[in-house]
Amino acid sequence: MCGPGVTIDVPVIVVGAGPVGMTLAMDLASRGIETLVLERRPPRQAPDARCNHVSARSMEVFRRLGFADKVRAAGLPADHAHDVVYATRFNGYELGRVRIPAAQDRFNDAGYADGSWPTPEPPHRINQIYLEPQMWSHAESFDRLTVRWNADVLGLTETPDHVEVTVTDRTSGTTSTVRARYVLGCDGTRSTVRRALGVHLVGDDALMMSVMATITAPELASTQRLDRAWMYWILNAEMSGNVIALDGKERWIVNVFVPKDTDVEALDFAAAARRLLATDVPFTVADKNAWTGRRLLAEHFGSRRVFIAGDAAHSWLPMAGYAMNAGIADAANLAWKIAAVLDGWGDEGLLASYESERRPVLEQVSTLAMNVRKGNAVPVPPEIEQPDAAGAAARERFGRYMLENDSAQFACIGLNFGYYYDASPIIAYDGESPPAYSLGAYTPSTVPGCRLPHAFVGGTTSLYDLLGPGYTLIRFDPSLEIGALQRAAERSGLPLKVLDFDPETLDVSYDCAMMLVRPDQHIAWRGASIGPAAESLFERLRGALTAQAA
Ligand SMILES: Cc1cc2nc3c(=O)[nH]c(=O)nc-3n(C[C@H](O)[C@H](O)[C@H](O)COP(=O)(O)OP(=O)(O)OC[C@H]3O[C@@H](n4cnc5c(N)ncnc54)[C@H](O)[C@@H]3O)c2cc1C
Repeated sequence: MCGPGVTIDVPVIVVGAGPVGMTLAMDLASRGIETLVLERRPPRQAPDARCNHVSARSMEVFRRLGFADKVRAAGLPADHAHDVVYATRFNGYELGRVRIPAAQDRFNDAGYADGSWPTPEPPHRINQIYLEPQMWSHAESFDRLTVRWNADVLGLTETPDHVEVTVTDRTSGTTSTVRARYVLGCDGTRSTVRRALGVHLVGDDALMMSVMATITAPELASTQRLDRAWMYWILNAEMSGNVIALDGKERWIVNVFVPKDTDVEALDFAAAARRLLATDVPFTVADKNAWTGRRLLAEHFGSRRVFIAGDAAHSWLPMAGYAMNAGIADAANLAWKIAAVLDGWGDEGLLASYESERRPVLEQVSTLAMNVRKGNAVPVPPEIEQPDAAGAAARERFGRYMLENDSAQFACIGLNFGYYYDASPIIAYDGESPPAYSLGAYTPSTVPGCRLPHAFVGGTTSLYDLLGPGYTLIRFDPSLEIGALQRAAERSGLPLKVLDFDPETLDVSYDCAMMLVRPDQHIAWRGASIGPAAESLFERLRGALTAQAA
């Protein structure tokens, strides 16, 4: 109950069953929090074909939630190349190739652009139309998770102790109110939740424009001139765009990049796609849409009881394949904090740290994505399609330029593992700065705020699989005193697992005696002794020191 006569229907409502909402809902349910997802789409209606890349970091989150293997088994056929090819046309000249292993070779992939990354879960190429059904079906394995389809959220009212959500059932037309302690808006770029909060998006508008559609072309694969790839990045003096394999058989996404002032209605998309493909095989066009590449972030990510995540909080042009993946990182950051507050051991300061941790990272990664576009929107030599020596020289020169200057977007290790939380009230810093990262550069680090560098234990067991659902204290010397922290944790219900390791059993050496790892695998503290600082460290971990830290 939350006041006379008012009953709470469910602790948490998530608005939107897209990839971010489903990740958040599963993460909450995995922590025992009853969660209701309200989704306006009919049951299991596939989304538009948009995102095609699940980052390694997102796969790590999916592994923690128990379905990374199902995602990896879906999408393109297991033997279909995941390469990226720069080409003059789909059936034109190849300019360069970024080699990325097919799913079947994923764990035997040294020598590829994103092979040998320090993770148990390398990236996977799969379109959102195949990813989302995997999420919905895995969600059914959580007792405490309910998805209500055809449920259109119209608005909400926040009170000091609960939130009232107005929702219309699109099949019956009836409107009702559902009450929750927290509402999490994962309802996409036009977010009703964000509007209800009165929060605006700020940033850079209309950086580029594309007209995108799904084509079905049964004869295209058998008549293609270049070796198979997952994506063909098309560059010639007349036009640019890309072609992405969806099912490895007959379905493809075609993006035709157009000037920002293009009259999309007047554009003959089929004719433009035919020129991009350089083919005369028949194809049909479906789901044609224009999208504008922006770089926008919400001014704020929430209030006291209402928060936004994913495209509801930010959207930017799909360079480096890191928009949905950034939203999944939001979900992983927010879920454990909401659960901690509902479980009683977390202070509300934990929730405030969601924005102070995520917003600076999203500024950084969106700027990196924008810079990718600035780097690859370069003039193409006019002779690039000539069959003579001048054409060959232009292709060699331009292909090298793209491989050297653009290809990091397809193997962006820095975006996956490099970001850190460097001004967080719930992290105990020790004065050392985290290593800088870029699209293609990552330095593993135990500086508090960084992602725990991954290690294999005994050669095959992922360290991540051994972490507890709450905080985990990793100790390389069992004689180090941790009793005060353990007692404080026990008193309050803060979940704390202790993992003792002989450093010799790990394939990575860590430069500290102890590390305290958060539920989202970021480091909260490191050191050789906790001692008298145990009480203040404990208060920081549960979010109660935010006022002092601010
Ligand atoms: C061309 C293109 C290519 C892209 N490629 C990539 C890529 O390679 N990698 C990448 O990381 N990202 C990519 N993205 C971005 C990616 O598609 C989005 O970031 C991702 O879909 C965001 O997920 P989400 O769950 O936040 O929002 P959405 O996927 O938009 O889901 C929101 C959900 O909320 C529901 N909803 C909305 N309003 C309401 C309401 N009022 N009541 C109930 N339900 C509601 C919607 O029906 C929807 O199901 C691409 C985007 C585009 C346009």
